[in-house]
Amino acid sequence: MPQVLRVVCCFQCRQFQSDIVKKSTKWTCNRCNTKQTLRKEYGRGSGLECRLLAQQLSAKSCETEGLLDQTLIERLLLEDDDFEIPPDEGVGTGR
Ligand SMILES: [Zn+2]
Repeated sequence: MPQVLRVVCCFQCRQFQSDIVKKSTKWTCNRCNTKQTLRKEYGRGSGLECRLLAQQLSAKSCETEGLLDQTLIERLLLEDDDFEIPPDEGVGTGR
């Protein structure tokens, strides 16, 4: 029976990596060496499959973070426009 691995993500450094499936839910990050409990399993498969999946996930999470930042900035800018108070109704801010 071939060895089954799972894809996990370190809560400390957010590194996706493959880990051998075992009974214990404890694992150690191979990047920052933090010992932790398995919180979420992103997938299972052979060593190669898990390595590829980990790569894809880390690439995707970088993209998502970038997108999130952008939309957040855009939303803040939009909200800023909404906050414009009509001059006759606005409470003077001491300008
Ligand atoms: Zn780590």
